[in-house]
Amino acid sequence: MLKKFIPDYYYKTIEDIPYTKLYDDGIRLILTDLDNTLISYLEKEPTEALFAWKEKVEKMGFEIIIVSNSRKDRVEHFAKELGLPFVKFAKKPLLFGMKKALRLASKEYKKEEIMEIGDQLMTDVFASRRMNILTILVKAIDKKTEILPTKINRKLEHFVLSHIERRHARLYQQHLDAYVRDKDE
Ligand SMILES: [Mg+2]
Repeated sequence: MLKKFIPDYYYKTIEDIPYTKLYDDGIRLILTDLDNTLISYLEKEPTEALFAWKEKVEKMGFEIIIVSNSRKDRVEHFAKELGLPFVKFAKKPLLFGMKKALRLASKEYKKEEIMEIGDQLMTDVFASRRMNILTILVKAIDKKTEILPTKINRKLEHFVLSHIERRHARLYQQHLDAYVRDKDE
């Protein structure tokens, strides 16, 4: 069970993810979280950097779909501005929203072709491990602005991290140590 909270890889930001290698490994579809993964809660519009990221990643041959737990209109606004399909109120770690996202994709992808990017263990990592797809954890862009449900999830995350460290020391070292070092800086 604890292993369902361990990502395959951790990178500090979406920019640090090695897309070329992942493409070579056969990944074609990116399901991505929105808040604190692509943008901070404070942003009202997509940033130049985010537009550039989207262009770059699409040009490489990836399809991108936003899967957000937020039910706010901002999800739709950002997705439309960026020109990306989206699912809001996805209820990760339940799989309902993730599966809905797959139905929005331009074609049917195999599990080995899909990866998920997110900033939370309890929602993003857990959902994509349950889906059995490649799981990438990034550092939250701006933790200070996190909303209450996320703050609660962070407390659970802290608890889960300490258990993983004790029970699966080697996996913790490989997949989470850098995240833990970065996350509160
Ligand atoms: Mg998030």
